[in-house]
Amino acid sequence: MSRPVPRPGVLDIAPYVPGKSSAPGVARVFKLSANETPLGPSPKAIEAFKACALHLEDYPEGSSRVLREAIGKSFGLDPDRIVCGAGSDEILNFLGHAFLGAGDEAIMTEHCFLVYPIATMANGAKCVVVPETDFTANVDTILAAVTPRTKIVWIANPNNPTGTYVPFDEIKRLQRSLPPHVLLVIDAAYSEYVSRNDYEAGIELVATTENTVMCRTFSKIHGLASLRVGWMYAPAHIIDAINRIRGPFNVSTPAMLAAIASLADTAYLEHARAHNDQWRGWLTEEIGKLGLKVTPSVANFILIHFPQEKRRTADDADAFLTKRGLVLRGLKNYKLPHALRLTVGTEEANRLVVEALRDFQGS
Ligand SMILES: *Cc1c(COP(=O)(O)O)cnc(C)c1O
Repeated sequence: MSRPVPRPGVLDIAPYVPGKSSAPGVARVFKLSANETPLGPSPKAIEAFKACALHLEDYPEGSSRVLREAIGKSFGLDPDRIVCGAGSDEILNFLGHAFLGAGDEAIMTEHCFLVYPIATMANGAKCVVVPETDFTANVDTILAAVTPRTKIVWIANPNNPTGTYVPFDEIKRLQRSLPPHVLLVIDAAYSEYVSRNDYEAGIELVATTENTVMCRTFSKIHGLASLRVGWMYAPAHIIDAINRIRGPFNVSTPAMLAAIASLADTAYLEHARAHNDQWRGWLTEEIGKLGLKVTPSVANFILIHFPQEKRRTADDADAFLTKRGLVLRGLKNYKLPHALRLTVGTEEANRLVVEALRDFQGS
């Protein structure tokens, strides 16, 4: 039988499986599996969203101009060098679409964000996966994997699901050492949560080089994941290429206006950052005290490691926590079968998780 066949590579893609969001039979569920903010978006963003309901018949402005201008003002960037997308996922896929084809290679690290293999293989290109060191991207192993076919290096900084980061000096060394035809994609989805002196989201490199882009999102600290809005800061020639393949109305008006209101509410963002700082530290310490290894994180989630002993495994812990309505992220598809990822939650959720893990360890 003859029938339409997708291009080579497409059917090799493992479909993206989101973290589970329910716990059957449990009355109260805490979803700590998707790195969503426990605080919700700024009330001002919700207000802006609601105000859009009266004009749903109108197409959005096609270039996301008002949002690009607001981002430009917040970050001190030229709005002409910004592209907005329906989530940064869309932008990552635009980049793959524009820069990768059959025979090309894209480099990513062992436990990288799973959108990178999708954005690579969907365009017929090959994933070159390199080892990490202590769950952290290693610039030397990335550089060692570069070939004449390399077109993109994907790096999340901080990385999801490990929570680790690469200091800015190392990111600069990576950019300097790459051949100039290789595009360095810095995915800074969690950058607002980082408070380290040796970290920079990538703005300086984008401003001063021709082959670096930085992707950002409103899904994480801004709490607008359901609206799907992200953006990229990039050199003019890359903006030009992406604007040629971008759908003409790819960001909705409610998404744009809620994002603008959220950017303006700096006090709310500061509150969200402080909440995360406090509870990420507390969770890391308390869970460590229970005898479980936690990878130090700079983002809004932590990676908890479990032993491979009977009744003590990550699967066992996952089942135990789920019965109490605490839903974490299993990481088998991230090649981390012995770890669970926990998103920082409300004070109540965080305390319940530690209590449940204490009971699990004592069981
Ligand atoms: C959550 C996340 C994103 C953002 O995705 P959106 O499409 O903007 O919701 C991007 N990169 C990483 C590494 C993430 O974890």
